[in-house]
Amino acid sequence: MGKDYYKILGVDKSATNEEIKQAFRKLAHLHHPDKKGGDEAKFKEINEAYQVLGNEKKRQQFDQYGSSFDQQGGFGGGMNWDDFMSQARGGFAGGNMGGFDFGGIDLGDIFGDVFGFGGGGRGRSRREERGNDIQVDMQISLSEAAFGVKKEIELYKQTKCSHCHGDLAEPGTKVETCSTCKGQGQVTRVQRTFIGNIQTNSVCPDCRGLGKKISEPCHECRGQGVVKKKEQMDIGIPSGIEDGAAIRYSGHGEAGAKGAQNGDLYVRVSIRSDKNFVRRGDDLITNKKINFVQATLGDTVDVSTLDGEVSLKIPAGTQPGTRLRLKDRGMTRFERHDRGDLYVEIEVEIPTHISRSQRKLLEEFEKED
Ligand SMILES: [Zn+2]
Ligand SMILES: [Zn+2]
Repeated sequence: MGKDYYKILGVDKSATNEEIKQAFRKLAHLHHPDKKGGDEAKFKEINEAYQVLGNEKKRQQFDQYGSSFDQQGGFGGGMNWDDFMSQARGGFAGGNMGGFDFGGIDLGDIFGDVFGFGGGGRGRSRREERGNDIQVDMQISLSEAAFGVKKEIELYKQTKCSHCHGDLAEPGTKVETCSTCKGQGQVTRVQRTFIGNIQTNSVCPDCRGLGKKISEPCHECRGQGVVKKKEQMDIGIPSGIEDGAAIRYSGHGEAGAKGAQNGDLYVRVSIRSDKNFVRRGDDLITNKKINFVQATLGDTVDVSTLDGEVSLKIPAGTQPGTRLRLKDRGMTRFERHDRGDLYVEIEVEIPTHISRSQRKLLEEFEKED
């Protein structure tokens, strides 16, 4: 099941952003693996919780979808812990507190604050320019949910400008490297402190982080590097998905202006109710009507399943409401290949009109009883 990020950070569901940040700092400081008595697993968990609760949009999504969202790998799906730690460690040891931006959080900012180094500017400013996240609602059938499906969607969104290819300058015009930052986009300041030299990076005041000076901005995007346009995208919905689950497509939201990071795309899946089947987790339930003779004597009948018609043996003496199981005819289990079962609930029909000879037979049957 999904984790309770509020519990992990020890804050209330109604906590303010500031309270969440405070709680994270305190815990991160306490459990940082480079510290004596630190705990990497704990630190990782705290960080994961902060990645979600520290981000307004993700927090909203977490509040809305909770654990099911988490199960779909929606949060931190692309997160590689080793990369994260090497960045975190590198940041601490090397004192380069500038532009880390990993998994949606700016490590420079956080570690800078935690260890009192003062966060760097570039990461912060780029994060502000990050493209917007997009949320799309998608309806699929039960059978599509069972077996997975590919759908094409059309998004009207901010995308990289095809005229300047995101370079921001009108093609063929003069672009100079910024002399202040030598094209780095940031300037480094070295501070001497009692634990050694600390470098802090901040956005170059001259080019505002671009690293270059443009004589003529692109005519198409006016030097933003992005334009709004329609874009088709193939969406793969995995088999076994739950109703209401959201899938994150990292980097498929709106493009960030001036080369900043793209936003994410969230596809929220709802499954249409089906006239034949009711879903219970990975199992399905369906009804089958048989007559009282079939129920009494037993029979073999055809039952419709997600895979088409399948024959089902009705044992003699089957009672109304009995559930018979068709193994492996349910939903595909999420992120697995095996399947749940289909339960066939037996309804026994009592005839409302019978012929004279049928009546006679039944009366004889009654006498025998
Ligand atoms: Zn352009
Ligand atoms: Zn510059």
